Amino acid sequence: ASLFGAIDMAPRDPILGITEAFNADTNPAKINLGVGVYYDDGGKVPLLQCVQKAEAKLIEQLSPRTYLPIEGLAAYDKAVQELVFGAGSAVIQEKRAVTVQALGGTGALKIGADFLKRFSPNSEVFISDPSWENHRALFESAGFIVNNYTYYDAQTHGVNFEGMLDSLRKMDAGSIVLLHACCHNPTGADLTQEQWGQVIEAVKQGGLIPFLDMAYQGFGAGIAEDGAVVGRFVDAGGPLLVSNSFSKSFSLYGERVGALSVVASSADEAARLLSQLKRVVRTNYSSPPTHSGKVVAMVLSTPELRQLWEDELAGMRVRIKQMREALVEKLAQKAPGRDFAFVREQVGMFSYSGLTKEQVGKLREESIYAVDTGRICVAALNSKNIDLVVDAIAKVL
Ligand code: PMP
Repeated sequence: ASLFGAIDMAPRDPILGITEAFNADTNPAKINLGVGVYYDDGGKVPLLQCVQKAEAKLIEQLSPRTYLPIEGLAAYDKAVQELVFGAGSAVIQEKRAVTVQALGGTGALKIGADFLKRFSPNSEVFISDPSWENHRALFESAGFIVNNYTYYDAQTHGVNFEGMLDSLRKMDAGSIVLLHACCHNPTGADLTQEQWGQVIEAVKQGGLIPFLDMAYQGFGAGIAEDGAVVGRFVDAGGPLLVSNSFSKSFSLYGERVGALSVVASSADEAARLLSQLKRVVRTNYSSPPTHSGKVVAMVLSTPELRQLWEDELAGMRVRIKQMREALVEKLAQKAPGRDFAFVREQVGMFSYSGLTKEQVGKLREESIYAVDTGRICVAALNSKNIDLVVDAIAKVL
């Protein structure tokens, strides 16, 4: 018998499965709201101007592709650290933060998970209910037991904040709590600044290990506004891990560019910690790729490219908000019996629309693809497809 003869077929990725069904659909008017990708108003994944300009410069200064250091390009790590913690922040000046380039946000989470498993092996991990579907699998594959904490309230379409606090207060000291820094995926329901204060307090009181996943910085209220929560955790003291991703904010999905940052209690501790993070990277993929790190480092540290990036990111953020607004207004006309005003309050690329699995199934008959949970990608709506989507939703309600 073959060595692999008895292997079971692994379950299909639920979201990629939607894309497969979408691709197989021959209706030219088909619309995919199942993805986690930002499209512009023309329905295209943008290639940002700031990225094009940086790439043009890199072509001019063609350079050999030697290995990067294990922790990544120094200029990248520095620029990312300043973005995540704020340039000139005390934690950077005191050299208490370490940042390693990673293969997207997923790679950052995986390095963080493997690192934590070495140094806090008995901790359990808590993710929001619901969360990005890869969080659980990622931490389980690092060897952790993964639990949920209360988060979404389907009745209010917002956060069940009392339930969340209650969950946090029940966790054992040393538990790892994974929090979405902004633009919660999949629900679009974020905490208020006041609620963040209470969460930080509960994390501190409980001796929990916070791990902030920041995959959508700049898609909520703004780059600095969305990142401010990181500084608040730093100010509260204690350990902190932050994964961030440029997949969405630079529209560099396939380039796999992100970073993991860890805050230590002293510069000396940080140096030891970095040496261990490097070990995790070394035994996984040795060192990260050069191209995307150079592009992002150049954009972040060249004033005119930086300004261009901030403007382009603001453009994406504003367009999503306009689509939320349009969706609410148009649904109010076409489906007056149902209140969708909550879509306006949700933040980031996604919305838990409140559509049931059956309704999502009926939408599919209209060639409109959403996730069974009712999650729709607002960033896939545009001025040409929104009326089709609204009419179809009104029909299936
Ligand atoms: N965290 C969350 C919450 C995400 O939504 C995503 C991706 N959609 C990631 C992490 C992973 O980011 P990347 O694609 O950069 O690996």
